[in-house]
Amino acid sequence: MLKPTAHIAEVHSGKPFAGGLNLIFLGPPGAGKGTQAQMLIKEFNLPQISTGEILREAVRQGTPLGQQAGPLMAEGKLVPDEIVIGIVNERLTADDCQNGFVLDGFPRTVPQAQALTKALAAQGKRIDKVISLEVPNEVIVERMKARGRADDTPETVLKRLEIYARDTAPLKNFYAREGSLAKVEGVGTLEEIYAGIKHAIGR
Ligand code: AMP
Repeated sequence: MLKPTAHIAEVHSGKPFAGGLNLIFLGPPGAGKGTQAQMLIKEFNLPQISTGEILREAVRQGTPLGQQAGPLMAEGKLVPDEIVIGIVNERLTADDCQNGFVLDGFPRTVPQAQALTKALAAQGKRIDKVISLEVPNEVIVERMKARGRADDTPETVLKRLEIYARDTAPLKNFYAREGSLAKVEGVGTLEEIYAGIKHAIGR
């Protein structure tokens, strides 16, 4: 049995975030990662790093990256690990990431998570918390109907959910072993979900 005093000491130490607030949002497409990340970055003045947004911008601009990623995104498939790892590694060295950051949509595979651990370690950093937004598939499918993004057709939504279950959900075990995973209920009002997130990061 856990001694209650041990628990209190842990809660009040504030130790995990001494060097900033390095966060990951994990969850299926449509779980609300982007929306909740926005609320958090405003309150804590952190940069949001969304690989999906970076890739969509590259598609809009018609850059070589966009030309390579566009067709894969349209099919709901993942962009190759090397590409997204390169994007994130470079972004994380920027000045605005030195006091923390919120990653949204990255990592999505175990190799991406391993590369992230390595890139952060090279800067003497680590991930403080991985917030896993827990939303049942039925709710996701309903939400995606309302969102109306170009890659939100019923077929690609199912494809993305399948890929999430196969490639991304294993990251929960990866981060649970590292002790940084926090599961947060992703169904409810925006404020309720946000309160769960703040509780999870101890703020
Ligand atoms: P998102 O906005 O996070 O839902 O991402 C939209 C699409 O961009 C995904 O369906 C993938 O095709 C691609 N994408 C975004 N982030 C990643 C990533 N970390 N790894 C591979 N593909 C990604």
